[in-house]
Amino acid sequence: MPPPLLQRSLAAVWHPCTQMKHHETLPLVPIIGGEGAWLITEGGQRLLDGISSWWVNLFGHCNPRINAALRHQLDQLEHVLLAGFTHPPVVELSERLSALTGGALGHAFYASDGASATEIALKMSFHAWRNQGFSQKNRFLCLEGGYHGETIGALGVTDVALFKTAYAPLTRQAVTVPSPDARRAAPGESAAEVARRAARALEAQLQAENGRVAAFILEPLVQGAAGMVMYDPEYLRQARMLCDSYQAHLICDEIAVGYGRTGTFFAHEQAGIRPDLLCLSKGISGGYLPLSVVLCREEIFRAFYDNDTRRGFLHSHSYTGNPLACRAALATLDIFEEEDVLTSNRARAAQLGRLLDKTFSGHKAVRHLRQRGMIAAFDVEGAASDFSRRFFSAALEAGALLRPIGNTVYFMPPYVMDEPALHKLVAAAATALDKALG
Ligand SMILES: *Cc1c(COP(=O)(O)O)cnc(C)c1O
Repeated sequence: MPPPLLQRSLAAVWHPCTQMKHHETLPLVPIIGGEGAWLITEGGQRLLDGISSWWVNLFGHCNPRINAALRHQLDQLEHVLLAGFTHPPVVELSERLSALTGGALGHAFYASDGASATEIALKMSFHAWRNQGFSQKNRFLCLEGGYHGETIGALGVTDVALFKTAYAPLTRQAVTVPSPDARRAAPGESAAEVARRAARALEAQLQAENGRVAAFILEPLVQGAAGMVMYDPEYLRQARMLCDSYQAHLICDEIAVGYGRTGTFFAHEQAGIRPDLLCLSKGISGGYLPLSVVLCREEIFRAFYDNDTRRGFLHSHSYTGNPLACRAALATLDIFEEEDVLTSNRARAAQLGRLLDKTFSGHKAVRHLRQRGMIAAFDVEGAASDFSRRFFSAALEAGALLRPIGNTVYFMPPYVMDEPALHKLVAAAATALDKALG
């Protein structure tokens, strides 16, 4: 008999974001199936996916509509290069994404993962300025605690020490400006006032950089990997105005917060603004296939449009615009439109909020219980350094996949998690919290 899947995995697979030695004591979880908000283990245990399998899954595992769309596409065309060629799914997806920005961001450049979307947005911003005669604009600003992926360029605008420190000598570090984190409110100060305070620091930095900033990149409303740091939309309005006055592009990285996660289809809509460049990935394919896109404004596209090849944007990835991934993305948009997801999510988010409030607001270790749409989180006071792993294990035992970031417990369920399942998820979290602290 071959050894069990777990042993083979530990021997042959180098797992992401993991100190492999921890698996000497922490068992891997072998998953052989999925059904809606549930994952099914090799041993037959059913686990509620409380974090949408790393924030990607929107409409459940093995969603019948997305499955059917993919089966159909599979019999038409699996892949073709996108340089010099085109195909129906990529055209339809680009048109529909443009329409979702009210036509403001009408050109779609594709890649396969979030970090590559960040790389593209940074290169595109710099190169657009360069083509327009502003090659001194070669610096980027990013938010304290911001996360934009882990390739070397993306790490340069990422401010999460755990991911960045070891590679600091390899990266070209962007300038970090203070986060508008609403938890920083002084007594009597509103979240909007915190945002305005952070915006003044942003303006001071733009001034100090004296015309050398190509772009300011941020995660609108929720800084995910920082630990679900939430802030007021006022900051986005201020950032938009400041980027306009100092002639810098505003890049919204909505890889995690786009696609209805924060209550509106795009998070930046809550501030009534549009970015110059918009990065999307994660939920874009409903959590099925790797796909990312950068949407950009007409002026940026025009800056590259020329007879000279070198003034073009020559970036590429082999799987750019993959038809299967685009088809999954189209099926995802169909579900949004036909099932009025934004409306049903409002009710679901309210249910989640009520459950969390009832269960955790009086808990002696819980601080800063917060929520924005289908993202909720709280911080745990007095947590040990291995709290995250202890909580994760205890939650699994209680039937839920929840993976705290440091001492922040968060919930990011797929949009199909119904009320009884939300009850189970929150109950599992309560059990896990007491066990991890005890
Ligand atoms: C996940 C994430 C990325 C990186 O995406 P990958 O597909 O993991 O490379 C970038 N930005 C944000 C805001 C993310 O949450």
